[in-house]
Amino acid sequence: MIEILSASRCTACNVCVKACPANVFEAVPGSVPVIARQADCQTCFLCEIYCPVDALFVAADPEHVTGITEDAVVAAGLFGGYARALGWKKGREGGADADPTHRLRQASLTAMPTGPRSPAP
Ligand code: SF4
Ligand code: SF4
Repeated sequence: MIEILSASRCTACNVCVKACPANVFEAVPGSVPVIARQADCQTCFLCEIYCPVDALFVAADPEHVTGITEDAVVAAGLFGGYARALGWKKGREGGADADPTHRLRQASLTAMPTGPRSPAP
């Protein structure tokens, strides 16, 4: 469940408002959005993934999360953690580089000769 929207990190881009399929956030003109309908959260992580500045924290296991604070999320390095684990954002360390199939494909592409394709006979 969505637990934290960091007002200090948020740039009020409202991407999370648009990305959320459950309409959990409410845009606030001239300010950061608010978590208006937390109970409707489906824990889909879309808002956390799409947030460009890692200002959101979604708890995977909300039944065991009580009273979590922004400081605790920062201390645990959890802001942006889900997107990092997915390798979702450009320039971020992700899981693909550790995947043997991906590495094999990259190696085969590197080994392939380059140049214009020969015309079909
Ligand atoms: S986790 Fe999904 S349902 Fe919950 S607030 Fe984020 S986008 Fe909405
Ligand atoms: S996507 Fe992130 S930066 Fe944009 S409004 Fe939502 S919390 Fe703020």
